[in-house]
Amino acid sequence: MAKKQQTHGLTEKKEDNFSEWYNQVALKAELADYGPIKGFMVIRPNGYHIWEKIQAYFNPVMEKMGVQNAYFPLLIPESFFKKEAKHAEGFAPELAWLEKEKEITERLAIRPTSETIMYDSYARWVQSWRDLPLRINQWCNVLRWEVKQTKLFLRTREFLWQEGHCAYETEAQCVQEARMALTEYQKMIEELLAIPVLAGEKTEAERFAGAKQTFTLESFMPDGRALQMATSHNLGQNFSKTFGFAFEGKTGEKEFAWQNSWGFSTRLIGALIMVHADNQGLVLPPQLARHPCVIVPILFEETKQAVLAECVKLREKLKRFNCLLDDRDYYSSGFKFNEHELKGIPLRIELGPKDLAKNQCVLVRRDTKEKKIIPLADIESAVEKELATMQQAMLKKSRQYLHECRMNAGNWNEFVAGIESKKLVEALFCGKKECEEQIRQKTLATSRCIPFDREPQNGSCVHCNQPATQRTLFARAY
Ligand SMILES: [Zn+2]
Repeated sequence: MAKKQQTHGLTEKKEDNFSEWYNQVALKAELADYGPIKGFMVIRPNGYHIWEKIQAYFNPVMEKMGVQNAYFPLLIPESFFKKEAKHAEGFAPELAWLEKEKEITERLAIRPTSETIMYDSYARWVQSWRDLPLRINQWCNVLRWEVKQTKLFLRTREFLWQEGHCAYETEAQCVQEARMALTEYQKMIEELLAIPVLAGEKTEAERFAGAKQTFTLESFMPDGRALQMATSHNLGQNFSKTFGFAFEGKTGEKEFAWQNSWGFSTRLIGALIMVHADNQGLVLPPQLARHPCVIVPILFEETKQAVLAECVKLREKLKRFNCLLDDRDYYSSGFKFNEHELKGIPLRIELGPKDLAKNQCVLVRRDTKEKKIIPLADIESAVEKELATMQQAMLKKSRQYLHECRMNAGNWNEFVAGIESKKLVEALFCGKKECEEQIRQKTLATSRCIPFDREPQNGSCVHCNQPATQRTLFARAY
C-alpha cells in the first residue's frame, strides 16, 4: 500500500484521471498518508491544520447555539444497538466488534456514531422539562467497516467528525434547531471552504437510520458526482422511547424527549481537494491556509544579502498574515515555486535584485496564477486585498460550476441523458423507496435531496408516473 513517493510534482491530470490525480494531491501536498491497515489513513500536519481551522470556526458557532462539548466512550454495548431496530439494522453491516469473552458478558461495538451511548446517559440526566434543552457535541473518531473501495478523506473506515446531539421538550424546537445547524454548516462550508452547497431534505431511502427526517447539504464535484457535505436529523421520539428518555412535562405528565443530531466529518477535506486543487496541486482558500502567503527571494551570489535583508523586512510587515519566508538557499526558486504551488499556499511574493532596484515585488495568486507588480510600500494592503478577493473568487467559481451542472428533466429520457452526462438532475419524484431503488438500478443515480430552494409542485413522478408533490435532485454520488 504505502509506496515511497518517487516524483515531487503531480504526474496525473485532473481532467484525465481524476481519481489518481486526487490521490496524488492528498499524498504529495502532505495532507494524508495511508495507514498500515486497509481503509485507515494518517492525517498529516497539513491536513490536520485544515481540520483545526474548521474546529476553530465551528466551536464558537456552537457556543452561540448553546451547545457544549463533551466526550462519550468509544465502545458501545451490543444491547444498546438492539433497542432502536432501524438504527441497528442500518449500521449492522459496518460494525466492528470487540470480543474479550472472559471479561465481559456481551459484545462491544466500536462506535459508528454515538446516539445510543449518549442517550443512555441523557435518559439518566434529565428529570424535568426544566433540564431541557440539553445540547451536547463531541469531536471524535468513529469506525465504520466499509466494504466498498476506500479513499483518503472520502471513504475511510475510521474518520474524524463532530456529532451534535440535542434534546427538547417540543418537536417544533427540535426541528427548528436541526435546521439551524444545517444553516450554520452551509455558512461555514461556503465562507471558509469556499464550496457552494444545496440544502434540502433527504428522501425516505436516503434518510439516516432511525431518523424521522434528515436534512442535508449536497455539493457537486468536478468529476460529475455529488458529495454529501453535512447532515442534520430530526430523530423525533424514536430514540427517547427506546432508551426510556422521559421527563416530567409542564403538566406533570411523563413525556418523551424530542431529539436531533447533526454532523460533518473530515470528508470536507476531500471535497476541498476535489473542488479547488488543479494540475499543480492543492489550492487552499486563504482562510484555511497556515501560511496565506510565502516570500520567495530570487537569489544570486552578488545580491543575495541585500535581497534577503529586504525579504526579512517584508516578512515583518506581513507578520499578521503569518507570511512564510522561504530562505532555503539549497533549492532553486523554481523548485520552491513548484513546492508551494503543490501545497496550495494562496499567495507567492517574488523578490529579486531587479525588483529591489525598483522598490517593488511580484505578487502571484495560486488560483489564477495571475502576476501583479506591487510597490514594496503597498505590500500590506495589496496582500490583504488579494487574500479577500481570492477567497471570494474561489467560491464564485465553484458556485458557477454547480449552477451549470444543475438541470431539469421533464421526462424519463431527459433524466437518463442528464445522469449519463454527469449532471445534477432535478425532476418530479414520487418519493417512494421502491421507485428510487429502480432508478438507482437503471442509472446508478441516487436522490441527493428535495431542495429547499424549490416550491412544492404537483405532477407525476419522472420514473413511475405516480403522483409527485416535490422536485428532487438526483445524481451519481460518492
Ligand atoms: Zn416514482
